[in-house]
Amino acid sequence: MPGAKAKAAKAPAGRPAKTLKPKPAKPAAKSRYDPIAPERVKDILNRLDERYPNVTCALHHTSAWELLIATILSAQCTDVMVNKVTPGLFQKYPTPQAMAAATPEQLEPDLRPTGFYRNKAKSVVGASRGIVEKFGGHVPDEMDKLLTLPGVARKTANVVLGSWFRQGVGVVVDTHVHRISRRLELTRADDPKNIEQDLMKVVPQPKWIEFSHQIIHHGRSLCIARRPKCAECPLENICHAADKTWSTVEIHKTAQP
Ligand code: SF4
Repeated sequence: MPGAKAKAAKAPAGRPAKTLKPKPAKPAAKSRYDPIAPERVKDILNRLDERYPNVTCALHHTSAWELLIATILSAQCTDVMVNKVTPGLFQKYPTPQAMAAATPEQLEPDLRPTGFYRNKAKSVVGASRGIVEKFGGHVPDEMDKLLTLPGVARKTANVVLGSWFRQGVGVVVDTHVHRISRRLELTRADDPKNIEQDLMKVVPQPKWIEFSHQIIHHGRSLCIARRPKCAECPLENICHAADKTWSTVEIHKTAQP
């Protein structure tokens, strides 16, 4: 202890007393916090199950093809808006064949409210043509085949495979999953491809479909992008995100917004 006098040992008569060296202080114990420890991930999953039981895809659809088209339209757009647009769209173009026979320009007015409508029109017509020409009018139930369709990346393919075919072959990474996985320190990546890879390592495979649905609901209701509602959040005392609005736990130096 700095400033404390060293204790003098009792010496036998006739010998000089030895001075005992003060013991060096023990180094501070290293923090054992591991954000991807299986027990922490399990805790997160249990709390999500309790808060968001039986959640499903919010995009209205009656077939794999409708879900695929709705998912393409949902990029940079709310599901509520997509659900307003798709009933009229599917009335005009009720099958992949009908949409494949249209031109993107014909669809543009219908898709305008969803934003980026020129690109989206090209994608949905292109995807419908691919389904008709390569897969006999049926949406394939394999990742590799889905990824050959124009406008279909892993996110859309995972939505269709998970929500329609009930195949958890990946994790849907949309804007909510992207943001919240980082806030919960389940990944440090900042691009959907690597975030998905990280999540596939820490979330048990049977939970992949449900996990993304639950996180998407969480992102809409509480863990919103600006000013998340941390005081109402069931994950609050195990969340160390840098941009929490209220916290009962230490915010770690490595925490991310
Ligand atoms: S505590 Fe706040 S930042 Fe963390 S998950 Fe909950 S709402 Fe999101």
